Amino acid sequence: MILSVETRSTAVVIPPVQPRRLAKVPFVELTDGRLQGVVSSGSDIERVYVSSIGAGSHGLSCSTNNNRPCGGLRGANPCKHLVALLDEAELQYGRERVARYLRIEVDESTHLVRGLKAHHEPSPAATVFSGFLRHLAYLELPGSEEPIPELHWFPAVAPAGER
Ligand SMILES: [Zn+2]
Repeated sequence: MILSVETRSTAVVIPPVQPRRLAKVPFVELTDGRLQGVVSSGSDIERVYVSSIGAGSHGLSCSTNNNRPCGGLRGANPCKHLVALLDEAELQYGRERVARYLRIEVDESTHLVRGLKAHHEPSPAATVFSGFLRHLAYLELPGSEEPIPELHWFPAVAPAGER
């Protein structure tokens, strides 16, 4: 199921520093002492991953929206979802702001992921995901009291360049 562009309504959204790939990472935010977001599965269109990186602690978390742990996240090695999340955060907020928020110290030419003193730290995916759904509700269903049909909106509308 693909939502048409017309179903999107106008809402005040802070424009990203650079255009983002919404189909890949539909949701990213710096909040609650974490960089967190929702990352599409590369293989299964029905599945999304909820990923987060703790500011300062660099605790890593990645699981599906059904709270199954991500198979790609083992020990201190960030999975591809966390790397995608960092990349998108850079586009959304600018590299400096992301690095400052997470307290990552690397030189300009080094990928931010290399500056993580990473360790696995499970965080409640359900909380992040419900925040995402609230965010969507705000964007796409303003004033509606209807329950949000789970995942019916997914996949997100691809930017024109990705069709
Ligand atoms: Zn993952």
